[in-house]
Amino acid sequence: MHSHDSNLLVKLFLLLILTLIAMHVSDPDVPSALQAIAVDGHFNFHDVSSAARDFGHRYHFQPSAILHPRSASDIAAVVKHVFRLGPRSGLTVAARGHGHSLQGQAQAPGGIVVHMESLRGGETRVEHRGESPYVDVSGGELWIDVLHESLKHGLAPKSWTDYLHLSVGGTLSNAGVSGQAFRHGPQISNVYQLEIVTGKGVVMNCSATENSDLFYGALGGLGQFGIITRARIALEPAPKMVKWIRVLYSDFTNFTEDQEMLISLKKTFDYIEGFAIINRTGLLNNWRSSFKPQDPAQAGRFDSDGRTLFCLEMTKNFNPEETHIMEQEVEELLSRLRYIPSTMFQSEVTYMEFLNRVHVSEMKLRSEGLWEIPHPWLNLLIPRSRIHDFAREVFGKILTDSSNGPILLYPVNKSKWDNRTSVVIPDEEMFYLVAFLSSAPAKSSPSDRDTLAHALKQNSRILNYCGKAGIGMKQYLPHYTTQEEWRSHFGARWEKFSQRKEAYDPLAILAPGQRIFHKALPWS
Ligand code: FAD
Repeated sequence: MHSHDSNLLVKLFLLLILTLIAMHVSDPDVPSALQAIAVDGHFNFHDVSSAARDFGHRYHFQPSAILHPRSASDIAAVVKHVFRLGPRSGLTVAARGHGHSLQGQAQAPGGIVVHMESLRGGETRVEHRGESPYVDVSGGELWIDVLHESLKHGLAPKSWTDYLHLSVGGTLSNAGVSGQAFRHGPQISNVYQLEIVTGKGVVMNCSATENSDLFYGALGGLGQFGIITRARIALEPAPKMVKWIRVLYSDFTNFTEDQEMLISLKKTFDYIEGFAIINRTGLLNNWRSSFKPQDPAQAGRFDSDGRTLFCLEMTKNFNPEETHIMEQEVEELLSRLRYIPSTMFQSEVTYMEFLNRVHVSEMKLRSEGLWEIPHPWLNLLIPRSRIHDFAREVFGKILTDSSNGPILLYPVNKSKWDNRTSVVIPDEEMFYLVAFLSSAPAKSSPSDRDTLAHALKQNSRILNYCGKAGIGMKQYLPHYTTQEEWRSHFGARWEKFSQRKEAYDPLAILAPGQRIFHKALPWS
């Protein structure tokens, strides 16, 4: 065959592929085919742009339809329909919790987005008797509502995220990490049971003893094996009040040693986090609206002077009748720490006020038009043995200020993470969550810095450094675009992860926005 003949063949083949991909992305028959499925809820085919947005505000993929389900059976019917279309159809299905993903993870280009919040307010049931109380909730329930319902019985979930306007199914598909994780593990360590619609459209109940492979697979499973329609969450007695304390360090070693000591103690604070502050002024003044300095005169003289500082943040739960005991315990714990003495700030708030604290910031940012803007966040898990190398390179060298958003930094204990779940963590007994939570407001004048480009560049410098220095970092809320990168993220766990995909979603219908598996094209 002449070379120009073979070129022509290659071109024709490419044209065929592109035509098929185009057909897959926007199939004009989707609405009529879906309308024929009997569901109690309804589809929306016209106003679908809301499902092409998320908290990251950077990725926008239009779906063909949004399903507002009334039950798990609605979701099962739709997934089963897509499954029966077989690999020739490019249709995919993405569950959307509260759409707080960062890079389109809950989106489905040309596919069907399941609006999980339509299941909210279904049967929430608190079982308060017995030794292991729990609450049964829908997968689309927001954690703030789970808290409200549980508190009616004097109970609350044990493990949290910093922000509660996230869905149960969304955080359980990642991990759900906050300052209680050192003791209770992430949210995925505090679930007894799940109801899941698999990628074959089958509704399955699962737990540690029933269909346990699906149970553990779905926890931290990035939505790859099924849509979580119900969850049974562990509860504990809820305290009424919280003592909330912040102290500052200028020495990173003292800061991390104190954090590590606190999370290793049996009798310790109930919540332990921390954050880095780079080149900020007037910081303590900002805190004064919600925190009281222990020594106002000394605190008034403290000058952060553009230094890099580290804030240790912790809380102690208490009920008003036990204030005295709580204060003694707090004093004893604080006496072991090496913070800068003039920087002790404290406050007493209700448990609800504490857990819902980020919502207060959300309302403020919304009123200033600073919530619905791009969020180029980067969340990393760094092994304890390398946190000093990491900090030396990143704080002060790569990042010269933290004015774009908070930088969280706190350790957790690996023993509280169940290694049967799908979440990927560093291979060390203790590791740090380091979260760069940047916001990128639009430029107010042409000469302003492009904050989005700047933050993305810093993120890639941090990632490059981690790679080159062999930090052993794992991304939390991971974002990769090629399967090679995903394989490397999962490492030895890849085989198990892909086996589970084959078992529960063999056509790769679910959560396409994670870009781990791609729905098979007809020739593959
Ligand atoms: P979505 O963004 O809607 O979905 C996330 C992924 O899960 C998608 O792939 C989606 O398809 C899939 N999915 C959604 N629902 C289901 C379901 N029912 N079954 C199966 N798959 C499903 N995370 C922490 O761990 N700790 C924090 O402290 C924390 N703080 C945050 C603060 C803010 C302000 C924001 C915006 C996010 C924070 N997160 C935190 C991250 C959060 O856990 C993720 O954004 C997560 O995706 C939850 O958001 P969501 O419910 O909106 O899920």
